[in-house]
Amino acid sequence: MRADLNIPSSHEKRLIHTAFGWYALTREQSDLGPFPSKQEASEALTRHIQVYKGVNTRNDHGDKPHTGISLHDSAHCHKTNCALCAEAYILRQGMIAS
Ligand SMILES: [Zn+2]
Repeated sequence: MRADLNIPSSHEKRLIHTAFGWYALTREQSDLGPFPSKQEASEALTRHIQVYKGVNTRNDHGDKPHTGISLHDSAHCHKTNCALCAEAYILRQGMIAS
């Protein structure tokens, strides 16, 4: 627990770190990010949730917007800015480089 971070616990599973920076996962067409810090990703997610609160009234339990990273299908992903696609891309590059 770092005193300089104030991340809601509900955000923890929606914030992921990649080589590009921090992303906040959303259910919308575009994930948020990358941000230079987890704190900024969290703040962006808070704003995002406030904007969409009135839009997604049904089935909004704050549950995971994506399932496991290893199962993420980048080829068929419809997001325009997808944290998991970014991560998958980095993983692929890493595999090629090594
Ligand atoms: Zn994706």
